[in-house]
Amino acid sequence: MKWRGRRGSTNVEDRRGMGGKGLAVGGGLGGLIIVLIVTLLGGNPGDLIGGMGETEQSVPYEETEKEKENAQFVSVVLADTEDVWTDIFREQGLTYKEPQLVLYTGSVQSACGAAGSSVGPFYCPGDQKLYIDLSFYQELQDKFDAPGDFAMAYVIAHEVGHHVQTLLGKTEEIHALRSKLSETEYNKYQVRFELQADYYAGVWANHAQDMNVLEKGDLEEALNAASGVGDDTLQKKSQGYVVPESFTHGTSEQRKRWFYKGFQNGTIKGGDTFKVKEL
Ligand SMILES: [Zn+2]
Repeated sequence: MKWRGRRGSTNVEDRRGMGGKGLAVGGGLGGLIIVLIVTLLGGNPGDLIGGMGETEQSVPYEETEKEKENAQFVSVVLADTEDVWTDIFREQGLTYKEPQLVLYTGSVQSACGAAGSSVGPFYCPGDQKLYIDLSFYQELQDKFDAPGDFAMAYVIAHEVGHHVQTLLGKTEEIHALRSKLSETEYNKYQVRFELQADYYAGVWANHAQDMNVLEKGDLEEALNAASGVGDDTLQKKSQGYVVPESFTHGTSEQRKRWFYKGFQNGTIKGGDTFKVKEL
């Protein structure tokens, strides 16, 4: 991706080296804590997110050159998503509210609870922020076999996709089903919800292409990353077999295909993963 020397976002909150020290939780939302948390990877986020712990630990942190570069990169990608989604929302007569991107190391406090970097990148609808420990960049390459800058761009774009869902009211709609359905039934909705975020990531990539910032191999990098974080692939790797009822994000094939669909369409229209019979 051509990103060097381009505009970075002003919505990046650098909390690296700050440990889990964080914001007052819930207060600003009138006491309402939205515990739904939206991750890139599968698994049950409820298992991974701790409570509102008191542990505030400042860890010495010194940014390496590589990390500096990665921080600049995600800032440029975020800025690109702001441009693209502001336009798309405007065309629909809507106003896009830019999300914040929190960079952290180790662990972080969000309105959705405390999280460790093992959770992977996530979006918290409660404070409308994206959270990323940049060490995930390396993990994406090594653990998920998804190297390349556009693989990381896909990750950001996917989380921004969840922000778009939140602004459009979809997050709340899905969250409301949680208490009404069995886990297996709810998982089916969650898969559709996640695939829609992948579709929106593809929509963004379509516009990035129009902006002439894609390089040869970028699209493949994103598709490969979408495939690398598919539930079947992750389960095969971690436990050697797949349990489809427990899928929350979709298979590698589905994630790739919905991203690609968004990439081809370039519009919100066509991304209703809740309407289609077969995903
Ligand atoms: Zn997601």
